[in-house]
Amino acid sequence: MENPGAGRYAPSPSGDLHLGNLRTAILAWLFARNTGRRFLLRVEDLDRVRARAEESQLRDLAAIGIDWDETPVRQSERGRLHAAALESLIGAGRTFECFCTRRDIAEASSAAHGPVSLYPGTCRQLSDEQREERRRERPAALRFLSGGGTEHFTDAVAGDRVGPVDDVVLRRNDGAVAYNLAVVVDDAAQGIDQVVRGDDLLPSTPTQLRLGHVLGFAPPSYVHVPLVLGPDGRRLAKRDGAVTLEDLATAGWTAERVRDSLLRSLGLPEGPLERALTAFEPASLPRNPWVFSGTLS
Ligand code: GLU
Repeated sequence: MENPGAGRYAPSPSGDLHLGNLRTAILAWLFARNTGRRFLLRVEDLDRVRARAEESQLRDLAAIGIDWDETPVRQSERGRLHAAALESLIGAGRTFECFCTRRDIAEASSAAHGPVSLYPGTCRQLSDEQREERRRERPAALRFLSGGGTEHFTDAVAGDRVGPVDDVVLRRNDGAVAYNLAVVVDDAAQGIDQVVRGDDLLPSTPTQLRLGHVLGFAPPSYVHVPLVLGPDGRRLAKRDGAVTLEDLATAGWTAERVRDSLLRSLGLPEGPLERALTAFEPASLPRNPWVFSGTLS
């Protein structure tokens, strides 16, 4: 049988899922199921210190009707895969040591009047002697020697996109693998060929595409969905009131009612997700953020 491919939802377990996260998870499930893909969960717990909400996240996803096909994987348990990918990038000459502090980067970027979010290149061309010297001061992070330029992709919701590729950190100077490397390696290793996530991650996509290309992976298809905003127009957060299933339950909202409210916000019929699936048409999804007024309706 042909491998049907897989979609995924990959939350960071730093706190309970809020309405925005749940809405993105529903969309990820709908996109995967609508295309006959398997649906996988990945707990992005590289930051172990903040990884305390794994259990409640999985429980809440199940409570709104999301199901998944395999035991969820934990990113923190995939260190060998990440290390192997890093070794291959080092072997291919696609990394460089970086000794910059956040402050160095901010200062270099503002001096160059360049986009603040891109690495300004400070450590890219250090000589062997300079590197030796800097290593005595602080441990190096390892960055992606990306080659710069741009990457283009077609997003199922966000449309045609082109954006700059950055020399992102692959391994932090405390030895921890960084998000951009882990996400690309794990998606490929899990057979994920459809990435659905919040559109706050659009700027990372060109770099992740390049990284995947250098590692020899086929590019996934991308679906970046609009975020949920709080009443103040900023990205929804805990400060916006009752935004998690637990908070909402206290206010009398069952998980089913929350699910229905989220489905309505997507222009989809209420009820079990299977019903929404039969009415699901990617082209008719709202293209703008959903503003949560402070109370559900
Ligand atoms: N773990 C990331 C987050 O919760 C999502 C990463 C991704 O979907 O690529 O924001």
